[in-house]
Amino acid sequence: FHDPLTDLANRTLLVDRLTETLEMAPARSVAVLWLDLDDFKRVNDSLGHAAGDDLLREVSRRLRSVLRPGDLAARLGGDEFAVVVEDVPTEEDALRAGERVLLALSTPILVGERMVSVRASVGIAMSSPGEWTVDELLRNADLAMYIAKSQGKACVRLFEASMHDALMARLKLESELEQAVELAELVLHYQPIVQLTTGAIVGFESLVRWLHPTRGMLPPGEFIPLAEESGQIAQIDRWVLLQACTQARQWQRQHLIDDDFEVSVNLSTRQLEDDRVVDIVRLALDVSGLEPRCLVLEVTESFVLHDEVAGARRLRALRELGVRLAIDDFGTGYSSLSYLRQLPVDILKIDRSFTTALGRSTEDDALVMAIMRLAESLGLATIAEGVEDATQRDALVALGCRHGQGWHFARAVEAREMEALLRLAATLPQDAAH
Ligand code: C2E
Ligand code: CA
Ligand code: CA
Repeated sequence: FHDPLTDLANRTLLVDRLTETLEMAPARSVAVLWLDLDDFKRVNDSLGHAAGDDLLREVSRRLRSVLRPGDLAARLGGDEFAVVVEDVPTEEDALRAGERVLLALSTPILVGERMVSVRASVGIAMSSPGEWTVDELLRNADLAMYIAKSQGKACVRLFEASMHDALMARLKLESELEQAVELAELVLHYQPIVQLTTGAIVGFESLVRWLHPTRGMLPPGEFIPLAEESGQIAQIDRWVLLQACTQARQWQRQHLIDDDFEVSVNLSTRQLEDDRVVDIVRLALDVSGLEPRCLVLEVTESFVLHDEVAGARRLRALRELGVRLAIDDFGTGYSSLSYLRQLPVDILKIDRSFTTALGRSTEDDALVMAIMRLAESLGLATIAEGVEDATQRDALVALGCRHGQGWHFARAVEAREMEALLRLAATLPQDAAH
């Protein structure tokens, strides 16, 4: 009845114990805390399984240390744990128990020679005898944990009935997304990237949308995060990559764009954590016939920081194909300067929040100036995102930024409209917002 690794109770013992409690009248409420470590896989992958085991043992020891007499802690497998707390009169008491657990885990753990910070997501379900079955209690605690995790991790959530509906909606969307690629429901839009001074189109960023059969056109924010979690992102990114390269190559053949045109594609962090990404990019280039130097892959800082060694190695492999790399949303992450210097990137995309703030105060302008100086000293090009008016454009030009994109020039548009823009002598109005 015990887990050999941690010596905590196993699932069978946990279920027995809950069954007993729930059958026992009169009203004695019981709470189940369902706990799942955040990013445990990363510890396992980077420090090895023995280190992972050490970590699990220490987590178990800490869980035990916060138990009161009569409570029970169990390991459910992998990095999942449960704690049964009896006689919890109110929801506040249950939440407090959850916070106690997080607190116990908050001090970094020494694994081998490394200090590792462990965070966990905790879901709680409470029941009085006769209210829920053991299965329901466990399922609801698990669901609350799942919600806690999707809401930014390292937090405690109490089960609510609405969570059930939210989960059902999500599962539905996930299965619909499964078919979206096959049914050709994905649509690629293109946002022009322009020369700020002239408005001439020098490239485009590919932005995916989902033409959902009943809900209409969904923006990426509504399904990309879900696809990243479910793994469906690999399929989506592959499709986008091929579509963008093929479309650009076609426009080149029609002489609508020249050979220096920049085709930008977003690569999700999840994709970049997979070595196959290099083959996928190579294949898209081969199949489409697009020159590698026309392709720009946008990656975020968070990826870069995630796994420094493997991350930088993969970026280098991509760059050896001849494509260029851009750091997306630059300025919103926390990459250190020295680290940035070692990265094989070519372009910084200045995050929209900086562009928006331009012209508001000298401090805000100074931030963009600092980014421009940084880019210059590292020999990187810059693209300003989210340019919405002429004031911002002028400020950017004054600071030395040459390229930008944003609603002042054009929104992301479908292929036909993009083609029309390209036919219009590849020049967009400089002073009239679109
Ligand atoms: P992002 O890469 O930062 O893309 C820029 C987003 O800003 C786009 O939103 C674009 O429509 C929007 N935008 C452009 N100009 C302006 C402006 O002047 N003002 C304002 N307020 N917004 C502007 P969108 O298309 O909703 O994309 C959101 C995010 O979804 C993207 O952020 C990107 O992270 C992700 N995404 C989009 N397409 C793909 C894709 O094919 N693959 C992956 N992995 N992610 C994608
Ligand atoms: Ca982007
Ligand atoms: Ca961006």
